[in-house]
Amino acid sequence: MTTQIHPIALGFDTVYVLRGDGQDGHDGAVVLDAGQPRKERAFLAGLARAGIAPKDVRLVLLTHAHWDHMGTAAAIRAVTGAPLAVHEAEAAWVRAGDPPLPPGVTRWGRTFMAIHHLFEPLIHVPPAEVDLELSDAPYDLRPYGIPGTAIHTPGHSPGSISVILDSGEALVGDLAMNRIPLRLTPGLPIFADDPDAVLRSWHSVLAHAVHTIYPAHGKPFPADVMRRAVGDRGGCSR
Ligand SMILES: [Zn+2]
Ligand SMILES: [Zn+2]
Repeated sequence: MTTQIHPIALGFDTVYVLRGDGQDGHDGAVVLDAGQPRKERAFLAGLARAGIAPKDVRLVLLTHAHWDHMGTAAAIRAVTGAPLAVHEAEAAWVRAGDPPLPPGVTRWGRTFMAIHHLFEPLIHVPPAEVDLELSDAPYDLRPYGIPGTAIHTPGHSPGSISVILDSGEALVGDLAMNRIPLRLTPGLPIFADDPDAVLRSWHSVLAHAVHTIYPAHGKPFPADVMRRAVGDRGGCSR
């Protein structure tokens, strides 16, 4: 049982398209995140490279609704015809096209965010309809053709979610970061609403049998990096 993971760079953010292996009815595609604004052409090109037709997409799921993750959501929803899902804590941000910026939690994170605030008036995020609001309960992705589950992992933002695939990959949005200029090496996010919740959410993710972490910013890396970063030696230490 494997799930294909196709990264598509939509500006600063990597969108992941998940596709089931066609066995046991797992033959749909799910788009995780929606990138920066005005990236519809890049999205369609990436989908074509992956050999996936827009109509094969059964769900567009946002890991969270910061501007760089929901920017092209309305266009992707329209072109695929798939429902758009986000955690209920952030649905209003999507409908208004007005997400907040999270505070920096490291010295560089605070500096970066201070610079970012200067550019905020230049960022225009199209609002999008939300078809499905996720609660705090785990959400099964099998009905969409993906053997995996979306779980609520707040901390970077109140409605952040992560996707845990049965095959051991965790796609965590901004619960981890691995990209210059955010971080030089993979690790915890440099922006977060609630740093303590980030750690609790990591223990939730690592309580699953995950081996590889896929951040929204940067390349995938071994889950053991996060086990060391949060002091988890395997299993849940909540
Ligand atoms: Zn974010
Ligand atoms: Zn982000």
